[in-house]
Amino acid sequence: MDMPAPTHSSAITLPIDSPYIGRFAPSPSGPLHFGSLVTALASYFDAKAHQGQWLVRMEDLDPPREQPGAADTILRSLEGHGLKWDGDVIYQSQRHGVYQSCLDDLIAHNWVYPCDCSRQDLNAMGGIYNGRCRCRSVDLSLPHSLRLRLYDIKDYPSSDEFRFHDLIQGSQAQNLRTQVGDQILKRRDGFYAYQLAVVVDDIAQGITHVIRGNDLLEVTARQLFLFGLLGAPLPTYGHVPLAVQANGQKLSKQNHARAIETKDASRNLWRGLEFLGQNPPADLAGASTSEILDWGLHYWRRDKINGQSHVYSDS
Ligand SMILES: [Zn+2]
Repeated sequence: MDMPAPTHSSAITLPIDSPYIGRFAPSPSGPLHFGSLVTALASYFDAKAHQGQWLVRMEDLDPPREQPGAADTILRSLEGHGLKWDGDVIYQSQRHGVYQSCLDDLIAHNWVYPCDCSRQDLNAMGGIYNGRCRCRSVDLSLPHSLRLRLYDIKDYPSSDEFRFHDLIQGSQAQNLRTQVGDQILKRRDGFYAYQLAVVVDDIAQGITHVIRGNDLLEVTARQLFLFGLLGAPLPTYGHVPLAVQANGQKLSKQNHARAIETKDASRNLWRGLEFLGQNPPADLAGASTSEILDWGLHYWRRDKINGQSHVYSDS
């Protein structure tokens, strides 16, 4: 079988037996805004430029933070921008049984313990959980969280610093003991922790490459650690810059970033490519969405992304 010709000079030619499976995983707390479109585009172009699949997962794990109808609005908005995902969209709200079964595996290894520390207790620890409940007995009839017993996992990782290479941000190191502590896997309100659900889903979907916003760089080491505990191959990560407002605040649903509109799809795509350092030609801005996506795919170069967060002006 002939290998497809690389579409441009920076395309990495993957061996035919190393598929690329990427994903975009928004939380439905509001409509798509420019910052989330940038993440969607980066994960889409990177997957498609490597002949990969691009999956969409709805991270609706935290009902109090969700907005009714937002999941559908996001999907319609992706479609309106010509972004077609592969396979079915999966919803975290329908996967509680899978999360519990992975948690049960970790519990069976004695890698999990209950914690009933109050907010005041946690504040007194200065932000990093100090392992207070590792050796305490906790009344399981009262609200409690479940934490990962980081200290007692003997053989993993072998060094205190957890290191990994980020495709966009370069080499990273984090000391999980002193900078993270025993992370929560299930919250005291009964919801599964984001870190657990994301890792379980990335494993279930066979994700090989995670291209996402730079606000998640900080939680990557603890996610990789969970991959290792669950015996799964580690994906490769790349964290794209955040779109920030002129005041330095991240564009986000929480600070009411403006929703992008499908009627401006061509302009939004062009600006997304520009934000990602791809230098789309000015006359492309008036082209159709499919022409702009084709251009983006053909000229996609991950190494042109400026990793630093930078200002996006809505005007
Ligand atoms: Zn505790």
